[in-house]
Amino acid sequence: MTLLDQPTTALSATAHHERMLAEHSAHNYAPLPVVLSSGEGAWVTDVEGRRYLDFLAGYSALNFGHGNPVLRAAAHAQLDRMTLTSRAFGNDQLGPFCTELAALLGKDMVLPMNTGAEAVESGLKVARKWGYEVKGVPADRARVVVAAGAFHGRTISIVSFSTDPEARGGFGPFTPGFDVVPYGDAEALRAAITPETVAVLLEPVQGEAGVIVPPEGYLRAVREICTDAGVLWISDEVQSGLGRTGHVLATRGLGGVQADVYLLGKALGGGVVPVSAVVADADVLGVLRPGQHGSTFGGNPLACAVGRAVIGILRDASVLHHTRVLGGILQARLRTMPGLTAVRGVGLWAGIDVDPALGTGRELGERLARAGVLSKDTHGPTLRLSPPLVVEEQDLHLALDTLEGVLSRA
Ligand SMILES: *Cc1c(COP(=O)(O)O)cnc(C)c1O
Repeated sequence: MTLLDQPTTALSATAHHERMLAEHSAHNYAPLPVVLSSGEGAWVTDVEGRRYLDFLAGYSALNFGHGNPVLRAAAHAQLDRMTLTSRAFGNDQLGPFCTELAALLGKDMVLPMNTGAEAVESGLKVARKWGYEVKGVPADRARVVVAAGAFHGRTISIVSFSTDPEARGGFGPFTPGFDVVPYGDAEALRAAITPETVAVLLEPVQGEAGVIVPPEGYLRAVREICTDAGVLWISDEVQSGLGRTGHVLATRGLGGVQADVYLLGKALGGGVVPVSAVVADADVLGVLRPGQHGSTFGGNPLACAVGRAVIGILRDASVLHHTRVLGGILQARLRTMPGLTAVRGVGLWAGIDVDPALGTGRELGERLARAGVLSKDTHGPTLRLSPPLVVEEQDLHLALDTLEGVLSRA
């Protein structure tokens, strides 16, 4: 008898699902004890009919909410026409998707991929090739400067330059060619660049590290340093991009500057399908020629149709305006909330550090979930809040009232 055949009467629906996960799903996550079955906007419902406000939003993949009607309609329509061609042939969504995304970001070209980690890997490959073919770095000597505390994904090359022992431990041997500098320190960045450096890879706001907003002037300094040294600035906006900060790009919104290469993912697929992209000018992305890079699913018509609907939502700037207004409320209320030792953030994105006397970030996240608000701890005392950007003002207040209550009862 398999688990699926067993009577479930003795177990709650949640416990039944948790047992299946424990026995048959790799244990690479430690989820909160909540098993969800449906969602709409900022609200989700679990298998026992309990409702929650989703203040994680799929790590910002669900920027436009669960079941967004515009994205759902685009997906349905494309699902009925065609879903995959491979890049062996063209499809009628790919050209418009690349054209519209390039225009949104003020760049020439788009390399479509699927996951965020693939966008990062692809950006690094492009930067190395650019280094050899355009900058003239000797073969196999290219180096990339990255920041401590960064999160860029889970592939072997990416964890090779992670400073998180949990992300690296047991996965060597590692990919060479990376130099790590402290985040937010422009002088350390300048000092780390050598004639063999081809790129600087940074998150404009470090998400997984606990929503670390860089010091004033840092992004402008990064721009200057990269221009002076003739290296590419790769801005990983997989989490910070597409509205989270109240801007299409955090680099532009917070720093007023343009990176050379943008990496997008998460919200680009609207929480419907995985869609990622490397976006840059033709003098950079143009180094790729047929056969040198690819992806079976990258640029598929379903992904492109959903991506185009996401671009459409962002072009009508009302969601960005809403994010800035509600982000102002979120940031202001958190900054006066008792029980927190630090509050960081911008837009509808915050990292809060819980007073250790009240428990860990994980424990606060569990108590908050029991009270009806879902969020996720990052490291130690830190809890991250990133509701869908379409959250209604009254629901934002409800979640913050709930957080305040949980902190005062701790
Ligand atoms: C989530 C994330 C990634 C990796 O995206 P996946 O789709 O999980 O591979 C890369 N960079 C940043 C900044 C992220 O937040």
